[in-house]
Amino acid sequence: MSDTAPTARVIDGKAYAAALRARIARAVETLKLRHNLQPGLAVVIVGEDPASQIYVRNKGEQTHEAGMRSDTHRLDASTTEEQLLSLIDALNGDPHIHGILVQLPLPAHIDATKVLAAIDPDKDVDGFHIINVGRLAAGLPGLVPCTPLGCLMLLKDLHGDLTGKRAVVIGRSNIVGKPMAQLLLGESCTVTIAHSRTRDLPAVCREADILVAAVGRPEMVKADWIKPGATVIDVGINRVPSLDPVKAAEGKTRVVGDVDFKEAAAVAGAVTPVPGGVGPMTIACLLLNTYTSACRAAGIEPELPELAA
Ligand code: NDP
Repeated sequence: MSDTAPTARVIDGKAYAAALRARIARAVETLKLRHNLQPGLAVVIVGEDPASQIYVRNKGEQTHEAGMRSDTHRLDASTTEEQLLSLIDALNGDPHIHGILVQLPLPAHIDATKVLAAIDPDKDVDGFHIINVGRLAAGLPGLVPCTPLGCLMLLKDLHGDLTGKRAVVIGRSNIVGKPMAQLLLGESCTVTIAHSRTRDLPAVCREADILVAAVGRPEMVKADWIKPGATVIDVGINRVPSLDPVKAAEGKTRVVGDVDFKEAAAVAGAVTPVPGGVGPMTIACLLLNTYTSACRAAGIEPELPELAA
């Protein structure tokens, strides 16, 4: 037996997302040439939340780079619910716009559920509309939330067929945990959804061939939670103090996942890092959803070209 610790394959989500964006850009080029159709994404942001501003800027830049139309609507924090609903109504009716994304969180005086429900389900590129939630649950084609879609693409790239694999998803949120579980079920995995009330969570996780952590607790998943050789997908994005005590004292932070990466890498067969794993897939899948919805609106079969090696 070797006395060196086994090292998991590190899943390079950054590289996969870059390749996916390149494929989407190629497909968009074809769409423009053959069908005179340019997919358009409208992003709506209300207020000044700094993290949201960064996300929205990144989304805008990457949408442009993919050759799509990108409209960003920056609304004042005092915007009323009625004004926001009226903008969504206009975007629903705009033939140049195929995807509408309302950046969350919204200010407290606006009912986010009402706003998300007002988006045309066929333009709901976040996949949060109740119609798309229902389509996913029923196994019908719809628009799927971007982060779990990105996780599934990484898993399929790694494994090909997922049939029969034991999957455990930690987290049951509407934006990650539940749709992730539905997608894995759709791939014929045997799926367990764990959450804060799950008894003996480490034992449940040790059953998993595929372990997805979407919790929001820094480095919660330890080595003895992981079945040797399992694939671990870490969705978590947690800010913790810098390892350097001087920097930490200055308030500097670093980002870690829900999985203790070092421990996981010694046991798992493959693991996503944070940053550079699931994170970059989310915007790439937003572009994919926008492309898909533009194709569907025009009755065209979406087709992503493979890139030459
Ligand atoms: P939520 O807070 O909405 O959900 C967290 C889930 O984790 C809940 O279901 C909760 O259970 C469960 N949970 C909390 N504590 C524990 C615990 N100690 N043991 C077991 N389960 C627990 O978070 P999100 O789903 O929105 O996000 C999860 C993580 O993913 C966050 O770190 C977030 O930042 C990140 N994220 C990353 C994205 C990306 O692009 N990479 C996109 C979206 C999110 P219960 O329901 O019982 O309360």
